[in-house]
Amino acid sequence: MVAMTEDFKSEALFIGAHPDDGELLAGGLMASMAEKGHRVILADGTAGEMGTRGTAEERAIEGQDAARILGIERICLGLPDGGIGRDIEASTRRVVEAIREHRPRLVFTHTGDDHHPDHNAIHLAVRRAFFLSFVLKYDTGQERHAPRKLMYFWSHRHDVPPPLGFIADVSSVWDKKLTSMKAHKSQFANTDYEGPETFLTNDLFWHRIEARHAFFGSLVKVKYGEPYLVEGIPRVDDPMEFSDVK
Ligand SMILES: [Zn+2]
Repeated sequence: MVAMTEDFKSEALFIGAHPDDGELLAGGLMASMAEKGHRVILADGTAGEMGTRGTAEERAIEGQDAARILGIERICLGLPDGGIGRDIEASTRRVVEAIREHRPRLVFTHTGDDHHPDHNAIHLAVRRAFFLSFVLKYDTGQERHAPRKLMYFWSHRHDVPPPLGFIADVSSVWDKKLTSMKAHKSQFANTDYEGPETFLTNDLFWHRIEARHAFFGSLVKVKYGEPYLVEGIPRVDDPMEFSDVK
């Protein structure tokens, strides 16, 4: 058996389809991991060039502001916005390259039952890449790498949450999450930015965000929570390490 490589360069690689997905769906966990000293990288699949509001250039600046607020690094995979699924092998390859470059322990992405075709496509590309990153003959000119665990953040537009793997307590980083979202000035409800209405710009947007996170927080007896799914069953050596047991 070939020994598994151990040269991790980051703790977590979060991969969202568009430049604001990471903040909206996983901003709290990224911020809290970064506060613990973990190296967290957020990869935007696309530059968001097909977005109803904002240009790719504006969104790149907003994204870097948001990353600074969260204390994380941000990269863009340069996949076609609206067309991540058009060539799934090419998209998979870009994800493999990112995994092999940043060598994370954990990889996070969208669930595969999402309303947005790009979210579904990046889910598929990341699942494929999670496996192929360790395949010796899948040649990208880089060392192969096996991340430890694949996890999913859950898109808020679904009606009913799927069975969850865990809920992250994001109460202490709630302000950071909101501030990082507000850095996306062109995207989320913001009266200072003129542009076509979307479901993200509605008056009720911030209320809905708070209500959802408060709901997930209430399930684990904290103020705000972010829901996650886990691929495979997590192994636990000591149940005393669960944070709601300590
Ligand atoms: Zn998106």
